[in-house]
Amino acid sequence: MPMDIQVGDILTMKKAHPCGSKEWEVLRIGADFRMKCMGCGHQIMIPRPKAEKGIKKVMRP
Ligand SMILES: [Zn+2]
Repeated sequence: MPMDIQVGDILTMKKAHPCGSKEWEVLRIGADFRMKCMGCGHQIMIPRPKAEKGIKKVMRP
């Protein structure tokens, strides 16, 4: 089942970023997600299926 994720959501991932933060803000959604690390501001593009597999929790502010 596809996950309900929207731009602006904060994702808690299973694996922490090297900066220690596990939270990412969703900036753009398509075939890839563009996400910004809440700890250090680093931005990544990650294929949607891979992103969804790594999500532990979705928070909607
Ligand atoms: Zn980071």
